[in-house]
Amino acid sequence: MGLAGSSDRLLKMFERRATRRVDVGGVPVGAGAPISVQSMTTTKTADVDATLEQIYALAAAGAEIVRCTCNELEAAEGLARIVPRSPVPLVADVHFQHRLALAALDAGVACLRLNPGNIRKAEHIKVVASEARDRQVPIRIGVNAGSLDPDIEHKHGLTATALVESAKRELGYFEQVGFEDVKISVKASDVRLMVDAYRLLADVVDFPLHLGVTEAGPPPGGILKATAGIATLLNEGIGDTIRYSLTADPVEEARAGRQLLEALGLRERSTLDLIACPSCGRAEVDVIAVASRAQEVLSELSLPIQVAVMGCVVNGPGEAKGADLGIAAGRKRGHLFVRGQVVKVVPEDEMVDSLLEWAQKIVSEGIEGALAAADHSAEAEAEADRTALIEIQGEDVNHSEQVVEMIRKR
Ligand code: SF4
Repeated sequence: MGLAGSSDRLLKMFERRATRRVDVGGVPVGAGAPISVQSMTTTKTADVDATLEQIYALAAAGAEIVRCTCNELEAAEGLARIVPRSPVPLVADVHFQHRLALAALDAGVACLRLNPGNIRKAEHIKVVASEARDRQVPIRIGVNAGSLDPDIEHKHGLTATALVESAKRELGYFEQVGFEDVKISVKASDVRLMVDAYRLLADVVDFPLHLGVTEAGPPPGGILKATAGIATLLNEGIGDTIRYSLTADPVEEARAGRQLLEALGLRERSTLDLIACPSCGRAEVDVIAVASRAQEVLSELSLPIQVAVMGCVVNGPGEAKGADLGIAAGRKRGHLFVRGQVVKVVPEDEMVDSLLEWAQKIVSEGIEGALAAADHSAEAEAEADRTALIEIQGEDVNHSEQVVEMIRKR
C-alpha cells in the first residue's frame, strides 16, 4: 500500500525551460523529463570491482547517471567490463586525448563528456562527434572555468561570456558533422559566475543543461555552494540534470542531489526527510541526540516520509503538524503524532524505537491506516502533559515578552 498522505502532495513543478531531449542510456534528459541526479566515481576505472561497487552505492543513494574517468587506455578497458554490469548508464569523462573518447565509445558508454578547453583540435572533435552520431550516443559539452580554451579566455576574460563562447565553438564543430545529440554544462567554482553563465547559455541554446558548481569543496560548505548555484537556476526553470561536485564520498553527492530535488518538489520523495526543531528554553529533551539517533535508525530503512523530532510537547506537534510523523518530548514522555494528531504517548527512552515502529506502520498502511491505529486515550494524556508543562514553565519560558518590552522602551 502506498502513502495515502503523500499522494495528495503532488509534485510542484516549476515552469521549466523548453529544451530538446537527449537519451542517456534510457534516462531521458531535457524536454520536461524528470531532473536526473548524477555523480562521479572516485575509483580507478581500471579497477573494475571497486568501481562497480561504488556505482552500486551511488545508484542506491539516488544517482541515475554515473560518470567515470576515462583517462587512460586501461580505464577504457575497465569501462568495457563495467558497462554490462552497471545498474545505471555510464558517462565517460574525457580530457586531452580524443582517442580515449573513441575507446570509451567502443566500450559501450551511454554518453561522453568532452572538455572543449583541452580537446581543441577541430578534426579530433569532429571525429569523435561523427563516431558518437553513428552510434547515437550523446555528448556533454563540459565547459569548465578552470580549464577554458586559452584564446577564448584571452579574448573574454574569465567571464560568463567566455564559458558560453567555449560551448558555442564546440557546438559549431558538432554542427559541421551533423551531430546534435548534446547537453551542455558551463561550470565554475564561483557561484555567481556559474549562475550568470547558465542564464546566458539558456538564452542562446535549446539543448538540455547539466548543472553544477565545480570543485565546490568538502561538506558542509561545498553543499551550500553547490546548492546556492543549482537551486537558484532550478527555481528559474533552468537545468535538466544535476551533479554536486563535493570533496567527499560521492555517495554524499548523490544524496545531496536527490534531497535538493525533493526539497524543491521537483522529484517525488524517495528518502527520509528528517526535520527537527532547533531547541529552545522549552526543550524537554536533548533534541540533537534524539534527532541524530532517529536519523541513524530511520536512514537505514530509506523510508520515504517526513519525520519531525521536536523538543517540547507544548509547541512541537503544532509546529510540525505538516510532517507525516513526529515526536515531541515532555515530562519524561514522548508524544507521537501523525500529521499533527497525537496517536500515542510513550516513555522518553522509547521515543526513537516508537518512531521507527510508526514509520514502518505509515509506510505499510498509509497515513489513514496509522491514524486509525491511534491510541484513543493519547490525545487526552497529551493535553494533560501540555497543560501541566505550561503551569510549571509558564507561557513565556523563553522570556520573549521581556525582550519585546525592552525593545518597545527604546
Ligand atoms: S518551542 Fe518546543 S518545539 Fe519549538 S523550538 Fe522550542 S523546544 Fe522545540
